[in-house]
Amino acid sequence: MLSQNFIDEVKAAVDIVKLAQRHTELKKVGDGIWQGQCPHPHHNDGTPSFTVWEKSQSWACMGCHSGKKNSKHKNYGSDCFAFLQWMEGIGWKQAILKLAKEVGIEPEQDQHAEVYDHKRRLAISYHRNMPPQVYQYLQSRGLDRHDLDDWSIGFDGLRITFPLFDRYRKVLGFSKRKFIETDESAPKYKNSSNSNVFNKSCYLYGTHLVTDDCDEIRITEGAMDVIVPKKYGVQNIVATLGTSFTEHHVALIKNMNKIPVFCMDGDPAGLKSIKKSVDMLAEAGVYSKVLLLPDGKDMTDIANEYKELTEDYIQDHAITYAQLMIQEVITQYDSKVNEIKLRLFPTVKQVLQSIKNGDERKVMQDYVYEKMGLKL
Ligand SMILES: [Zn+2]
Repeated sequence: MLSQNFIDEVKAAVDIVKLAQRHTELKKVGDGIWQGQCPHPHHNDGTPSFTVWEKSQSWACMGCHSGKKNSKHKNYGSDCFAFLQWMEGIGWKQAILKLAKEVGIEPEQDQHAEVYDHKRRLAISYHRNMPPQVYQYLQSRGLDRHDLDDWSIGFDGLRITFPLFDRYRKVLGFSKRKFIETDESAPKYKNSSNSNVFNKSCYLYGTHLVTDDCDEIRITEGAMDVIVPKKYGVQNIVATLGTSFTEHHVALIKNMNKIPVFCMDGDPAGLKSIKKSVDMLAEAGVYSKVLLLPDGKDMTDIANEYKELTEDYIQDHAITYAQLMIQEVITQYDSKVNEIKLRLFPTVKQVLQSIKNGDERKVMQDYVYEKMGLKL
């Protein structure tokens, strides 16, 4: 595991123009812009399609589309490491180490490597020591052996343990769920405290499985609400694990460049927290969708009910935030109208009963029904 510090240092020491010039002749065509024939052996380039930008230390080939962000071909990125990977067909880490050697920087291991390793071992031991009754409980919630292995779910003697993976599946800590009732007042879920490697205010559970195949990011509440839908094929689903949404989460989601879809409880408290999160994202220019879950149900229940159709359920039921607000206004309007009707009911009834002529009474009854929807 290489530290970010080391990677940044190597990158800063390498000049992409000089690196590229070793493979192709470059001509300066503008302020910090260099062009030449594509150096890649698979691209027989007759024109100078290859460009290097000195200021951003990046490169791209307009002919074979390598180095572009949305390249249809294998996309390595467009920095110096990506260039070497592309040219020499080597891995990312290998490219970093090769350039580090050239510029004379000693490889530095991630200073937290030991911490990750310790937590990983802990997760394995919890996973191996799950008693049958805990497994039976998890089975009743829709999980099988395969899911427990995939998510390294375990048991620490008192609680069910969910390792908190980062984007690269390194274990940063645990979310633990009470299994044996020892202390009524203890919270049902407990997440690891903040540490050098874990910060709950910028953590989302499930990001190691986020892909570019889906342009939404579904945000739900607990670990199980991620695991069960995922099992049935729901893409890009992550959880806040009960922590409130922060500016760090906003930045994280903005960087993903995906549409957030909040799949949460629609009770008044839930709605209030969704509104807050949606507003924070909107302020950062990110527009969300909302999927309000039916009364008392969570994403785990929905996924256990709809199984392989859960993805369709999300797509069919998620609405834009504006739609949600309008629906809320209409609900309020309907309830006000019903309130008024209820209040006027005795008066209307009395008036109708006072009409002696049967035909006239019938006409008036129809009229009231047409205008007020009251059947009298
Ligand atoms: Zn090319």
